[in-house]
Amino acid sequence: MMIVMKPTATEEQIRAVIERVESVGARTHLSRGEEVTVIGAIGDREHVQRLELEGSPGVDRVVPILKPYKLASTQFKHGERSVLDIGGRKIGGNNFAMIAGPCTVESREQTLETAQVVKDAGATLFRGGAYKPRTSPYAFQGLGQEGLRLLQEAKDETGLPVVTELMDLRDLDQVLDVADVIQIGARNMQNYSLLSEVGRCGRPALLKRGLSSTLDELLMAAEYILKEGNPSVILCERGIRTFETAYRFTLDLMAVPVLKELTHLPVVVDPSHAAGRRDLVVPLSLAAAAVGADGIIVEVHPRPHEAICDGPQALVADEFADYVDRVQAAAAVAGKALSAV
Ligand code: PEP
Ligand code: MN
Repeated sequence: MMIVMKPTATEEQIRAVIERVESVGARTHLSRGEEVTVIGAIGDREHVQRLELEGSPGVDRVVPILKPYKLASTQFKHGERSVLDIGGRKIGGNNFAMIAGPCTVESREQTLETAQVVKDAGATLFRGGAYKPRTSPYAFQGLGQEGLRLLQEAKDETGLPVVTELMDLRDLDQVLDVADVIQIGARNMQNYSLLSEVGRCGRPALLKRGLSSTLDELLMAAEYILKEGNPSVILCERGIRTFETAYRFTLDLMAVPVLKELTHLPVVVDPSHAAGRRDLVVPLSLAAAAVGADGIIVEVHPRPHEAICDGPQALVADEFADYVDRVQAAAAVAGKALSAV
């Protein structure tokens, strides 16, 4: 339920409503816009309904949120968009995030070189995996702790905040030492204990859409994080499985405007994993920016032919600055500007 307060509501009236809602075991979430104050009540709808808040002092109206996801729904924030602040860089609203870096942290040289290139080209955040979800158990699984150490070094050198994947809760503390944003990979989108724990840790999360997940399932997964009191979730469309076999995944760009109808959370697009091929990454990035994505997460490597993982889809580091210029122009068409410090 969403309790919309009158513009004239006093602090005391707002406090009284919160107390009544919490007295029946529901949790509250206060959101204050310039024009309107909204109290979100999360809990048993019938209990809250029985309070008959409509008509109480200061209350304008009570609106039920009909979607199965509540905190993620557009209604919950009264149509206002979430804007996250990651180390001074904004994501969401009119801010476009360029998240770039290697698929995998492979070596010190490769990591630091890539971090410097993406930073010089104006990237918002640096990405890189230390723990990799690989289809084959025999494939390189990432450098683990050593990878996290290299990410820290890249962060110290460039000042760029770091996005890195958490696969296993046992690695949470170490990942928290370096990650400014925790990535939940497509294969873990429905790992509910992982989602809840990331919610509890409070660190911003980048949640990738599962390979065969609907938008409703993605939003319910986001709800697991939000419901623990962590409001900072970025959704990521990264391609889904369809009947088409001519390319790796089908990048579902329609998900961007539709998610924006359904949720206030920022939505970014990963063209690299969808395409699996470098030549498709540029046009897909332009399309994603033009369709209104809040950012791109893209793989870059100084020497893609030497990459241990995902080389064929990595943008060449030397060409990255040109790429950023082109994507920035497409984002401007959608009214967004590259987010800088
Ligand atoms: C990645 O971003 O490195 C990755 C493995 O992506 P996904 O989970 O979308 O496959
Ligand atoms: Mn990859």
